[in-house]
Amino acid sequence: PPSRSSVIIIGAGISGISAAKVLAQNGIEDLVILEASDRIGGRIRKEDFGGVSVELGAGWIAGVGGKEANPVWEFASQVGLRTCFSDYSNARYNIYDRNGKIFPSGVAADSYKKAVDSAIEKLRSLEANHLVGGDVINESSCAPKTPIELAIDFILHDFEMAEVEPISTYVDFGEREFLVADERGYEHLLYKMAEDFLYTSQGKILDTRLKLNKVVRELQHSRNGVIVKTEDGCVYEANYVILSVSIGVLQSNLISFRPPLPRWKTEAIGKCDVMVYTKIFLKFPYKFWPCGPGKEFFIYAHERRGYYTFWQHMENAYPGSNILVVTLTNEESKRVEAQSDEETLAEAMSVLRDMFGPNIPNATNILVPRWWNNRFQRGSYSNYPMISNNKVLQDIKASVGRIFFTGEHTSERFNGYVHGGHLAGIETGKSLLEEMRNEKERKNEDQAFL
Ligand code: FAD
Repeated sequence: PPSRSSVIIIGAGISGISAAKVLAQNGIEDLVILEASDRIGGRIRKEDFGGVSVELGAGWIAGVGGKEANPVWEFASQVGLRTCFSDYSNARYNIYDRNGKIFPSGVAADSYKKAVDSAIEKLRSLEANHLVGGDVINESSCAPKTPIELAIDFILHDFEMAEVEPISTYVDFGEREFLVADERGYEHLLYKMAEDFLYTSQGKILDTRLKLNKVVRELQHSRNGVIVKTEDGCVYEANYVILSVSIGVLQSNLISFRPPLPRWKTEAIGKCDVMVYTKIFLKFPYKFWPCGPGKEFFIYAHERRGYYTFWQHMENAYPGSNILVVTLTNEESKRVEAQSDEETLAEAMSVLRDMFGPNIPNATNILVPRWWNNRFQRGSYSNYPMISNNKVLQDIKASVGRIFFTGEHTSERFNGYVHGGHLAGIETGKSLLEEMRNEKERKNEDQAFL
């Protein structure tokens, strides 16, 4: 029979590692971490590309410089992670049309203000309708139509919602964002965190309680404990499970529950949207884009919303790397994931030739992450509908018997972010500790009674 541990943590992303660390620090040493992929980090993941280390998942430490300290920023400073300040706000002054002309800053600023005003108006009317129970949303007459309006609408909604809606990350932790530009990757933070409670040697985790390539397929749970089955036929048993897989994975059928999860749970899981966010990296023999102050980000205005709209050069992070990054989201991400990288390269080059003329060199290399088609991710991060009540999140987070849920999608204030995952893991770890203490007390009382 399988040996029984106190806790099994499923998933070794930042939330799973943070939860495990809290448990270990509080004396729960007989824990097992089951991770489906061949590495820790989850959506924090670097890859070598064009001579430098690029982040396929989380790239920024967002929320710095405010009234409250962002624990991820503090930890990064402590371990000396190399970062550089990023200022998105200039992007709106570097908007190119299809003939390579930059929109005059006045036009750009006006369009931007118009888009913010209309987004705020839309939000208000949504809220008003929601309060009276109606769900009719009038598409306002100022819906974006021209390429520049579409581009700004895309930037605003898919990147800068903080301008419209207060977002805790920016309100509480501050408005500054830092790009991680460290050869060891953002994931260095995770290794440093893991080092405190898992046996490591020369930067490698050798602790046998961390089990990689273990794809959990079934959770059998009862009043007495949880039995976990993996794809390779292994069986693990524990008193409790912490499940840290993404909301996309919870929505998929990768893991089956016996008995099935209650209806309130599955309904809540179904209500959270999954955002797909894709950073495509392109390597060039030399740079042909402007690089001075205020030029890190630029925008391409096309009649199709979100079509290779948002660009960044990596010269600030890695001077001389000659790398550009273009970010796609949602439907465009899914479309590009489904086609070959050669097709994507051709599309990106044609967009760049619109902006910078026909004589620019071809990219020599392309990297297209596929977060949507990754069965251990199924998307990039959670996105609660603007008008969803807190109940949905509470239900997604609530434990079911001996199964505890964690992950960025369970963070009330910071879902969608690395610090959200980190704080969620700590919180879940603490609630489980409390439950374990309560269980122990209940047992003692029963014993005394007998
Ligand atoms: P994960 O990191 O997904 O960890 C869950 C783990 O569970 C994974 O390792 C997965 O392999 C594993 N798993 C899944 N299924 C199973 C199974 N059946 N059995 C065993 N293990 C399983 N955040 C920021 O703060 N700043 C950013 O700039 C930023 N940009 C982002 C860009 C992209 C492209 C993406 C994808 C995310 C970005 N995020 C950003 C969000 C951030 O990466 C996440 O919020 C955070 O890393 C999530 O951590 P987690 O522990 O909740 O989940």
